[in-house]
Amino acid sequence: MANRVAVVTGSNKGIGLAIVRALCQQFPGDVYVTARDVGRGQEAVASLASEGLKSNFHQLDINDLNSITTATAYFKEKYGGVDVLINNAGIAFEVADATPFAVQAEVTLKTNFFATRDMLTHFLPIIKAGGRVVNVSSFVGSRTLNQCSLALQQRFRSEDITEDELVGLMQQFVDRAKRDEHKQGGWPETAYGVSKMGLTTLSIILARRLSKERPNDGILLNAGCPGWVRTDMAGSKAPKSPDEGAVTLVYLALLPPGVTEPHGKFVSDKEVQPW
Ligand code: NDP
Repeated sequence: MANRVAVVTGSNKGIGLAIVRALCQQFPGDVYVTARDVGRGQEAVASLASEGLKSNFHQLDINDLNSITTATAYFKEKYGGVDVLINNAGIAFEVADATPFAVQAEVTLKTNFFATRDMLTHFLPIIKAGGRVVNVSSFVGSRTLNQCSLALQQRFRSEDITEDELVGLMQQFVDRAKRDEHKQGGWPETAYGVSKMGLTTLSIILARRLSKERPNDGILLNAGCPGWVRTDMAGSKAPKSPDEGAVTLVYLALLPPGVTEPHGKFVSDKEVQPW
């Protein structure tokens, strides 16, 4: 039987690297650092090796469909699929960044929502029975949901929202931001928050679909929040170290065989949070 394998996107630094470190210690199989830049990825593998931890590397830029399909084919061929996928790669503009909101909306949604969705579209079919999928979302996404118009909140929380409807709503936010009409449309002034609200909603939708289409495969898919973590993204004032930020995400990645929940939930501090 093929070895088990865990794949973490954007894991050359920050929380992703800390997730790989924990998986190297706890996951019974091969663990992959993936990064858009080969040099930065290989440096991460070398730094883990200097801690006595063995990881592997594969290039993966989630904004590049060719890169996604090349990686999918590699894991299918070498491992017969993927046991654990953690979609960690993400971006955020700094609060003080003067880039126009319209550009921030398009660029942020591109990586955090649309590219992460591309990852899920291509990797979900090769997630093995008993697999675990974790999407790194944020408490900021939950806060953003509560700042939306009641009509939007109702759609994001509804049990019948489809992936197509969600994609349409995310595109609507970007289009309205370009015309500076997002506020009239009921959207708050946060591109990052909307991208993570979309990612949490996508996680709920895809978990429902997995339960329906692969009911006997025991796959668990959740969105998780690391908390506020000291990384290049969040800065040095955050209370948690990257290793502490990885804890809930690794917990979701290593939910033991036979467990049926959480599934399709937003989880923070190892607890299911209201949505
Ligand atoms: P960092 O900026 O430290 O790391 C982000 C990682 O994502 C880097 O490895 C970066 O690669 C990678 N990345 C960005 N774009 C792509 C891409 N197109 N393809 C592949 N990799 C990419 O941030 P954090 O470690 O803080 O964030 C990790 C995740 O946690 C993000 O999704 C973030 O939104 C989320 N999060 C973080 C919180 C925090 O307090 N830090 C709080 C809540 C959620 P490169 O080095 O090449 O830029």
